[in-house]
Amino acid sequence: MSNPHKSGLVVSAHSADFVWRSAGAIALHVQQGYRMHVVCLSFGERGESAKLWRKGDMTEDKVKAARRVEAQAAAEVLGASVEFFDIGDYPMRADRDTLFRLADVFRQIQPGFVLSHSLKDPYNYDHPLATHLTQEARILAQAEGYRPGEKIVGAPPVYCFEPHQPEQCEWRPDVLLDITGVWDKKYAAIQCMAGQEHLWEYYTRVALQRGAQAKRNIGVTATRDIKYAEGFQSIFPRVTGDLS
Ligand SMILES: [Zn+2]
Repeated sequence: MSNPHKSGLVVSAHSADFVWRSAGAIALHVQQGYRMHVVCLSFGERGESAKLWRKGDMTEDKVKAARRVEAQAAAEVLGASVEFFDIGDYPMRADRDTLFRLADVFRQIQPGFVLSHSLKDPYNYDHPLATHLTQEARILAQAEGYRPGEKIVGAPPVYCFEPHQPEQCEWRPDVLLDITGVWDKKYAAIQCMAGQEHLWEYYTRVALQRGAQAKRNIGVTATRDIKYAEGFQSIFPRVTGDLS
């Protein structure tokens, strides 16, 4: 059932990150009637497309085109809309126009929650940059003085999705989302990422591990049989009227 008042925004540094780290959350919220929108800041054309480069006879444009097709297919499987900023990777750098463009996406989508990368990642500087850009765009979109007259955004919770090596990134989950019911969709989206087949099994194991942890952390009255989960680390305090 469509719910026009609910939406979520995912900001992915490279074009496959949103799949490994949050495809379950995306599919689950689409199922609940949310509009889910993904912004891919780059295609990961330099840093996360090794298999394509090894084919030989490649150019950056060819790699980008292949990565776009993969990400679009994955988004379609999940029921999300996706757009590509194409600001480049390795290194990723964002100018003021990119920041304003992302702030405008916040204004347009009016997200109820936001997903992006961990705040630290010593293996990949593009990832924290994406999060900082997202945070700053959110703050701009909240400001009455930024494009006055437009509807500002509230204070949507921001969750950092799971990095490849959580301990080194100082990432610790405080939310475990049960994605068992949409695991088939996540795995179908994962399979769209032909350029990174070595990660399919890895992220299946991550989902099983988080699922096992989720099962250990549900309340006594819950009866859900959780098998797969995704972990998130929230940046802001959660506001609630119910502590159970
Ligand atoms: Zn990445």
